Amino acid sequence: MLQIRDLKKQFKVDGRVVRILDIPEWTVEKGERVAITGPSGSGKSTLLHLVSGILRADSGEIVVNGQPLHSLAEAKRDAFRASSIGYVLQDFHLIPSLTARQNVEIAMNSRLSRKERKQVVDYWLEQVGLSDRGQHLPSQLSRGQQQRVAIVRALVNQPPLLLADEPTGSLDWETADEISSLLLDLSEAHGHTLIVVTHDLNMADRFPHCLNIQDINQVRREASPEQRVLRVKREEVTI
Ligand code: ADP
Ligand code: MG
Repeated sequence: MLQIRDLKKQFKVDGRVVRILDIPEWTVEKGERVAITGPSGSGKSTLLHLVSGILRADSGEIVVNGQPLHSLAEAKRDAFRASSIGYVLQDFHLIPSLTARQNVEIAMNSRLSRKERKQVVDYWLEQVGLSDRGQHLPSQLSRGQQQRVAIVRALVNQPPLLLADEPTGSLDWETADEISSLLLDLSEAHGHTLIVVTHDLNMADRFPHCLNIQDINQVRREASPEQRVLRVKREEVTI
């Protein structure tokens, strides 16, 4: 499903180049469910942006579901993302003035008839236990329910690859646990490949595959100047 080779990404900040990712090789098989952990700023979101084609790598190869993203222009990467990637984010990003059902419908393939659309949305709302909440606005739903709607929105076109960036980051632990189960169960039942980036070690532990981003990324972040000064001071004190 995903093959990465010699992938490099850096950003320029105030004229200074900051290396973020250097991944010699990483593969995720179809149907695998992988959690990626790692400290803040270690490039986890950047990696998902590269896998979804939002960002382009500086060099290297990235093939997702048979598509060589590294050689596609932006418009083609956008089309690829629309057809092949479902994305779940920490803060749901539902449109406040639309009902749960409408939030899902605007993400759907326009080829379907009205009746088919309704059937598909009904099916998915039922899958996440929200059959009776379709007419509710996001503000009338709990945070966990809002995340369920966002999961439905990500899955409604049946993308082969589901990406989630800190999907439980703003939920209490019990709700986080429910959302973890839902993502794991739905992706297993429907054969989606699932890559989740998370700080939540409870969530990561439940995944069949779990890795720290530093297991695949060769960039080791230098300590910031402030940290270096602190370390020097501490060493002076111990001497
Ligand atoms: P994580 O998701 O692991 O917390 P990110 O992938 O968001 O980390 O960011 C990794 C590093 O790249 C951070 O130091 C961040 O400040 C930097 N970064 C991310 N996006 C940009 C950007 N568009 N321009 C410059 N620096 C960026
Ligand atoms: Mg992040």
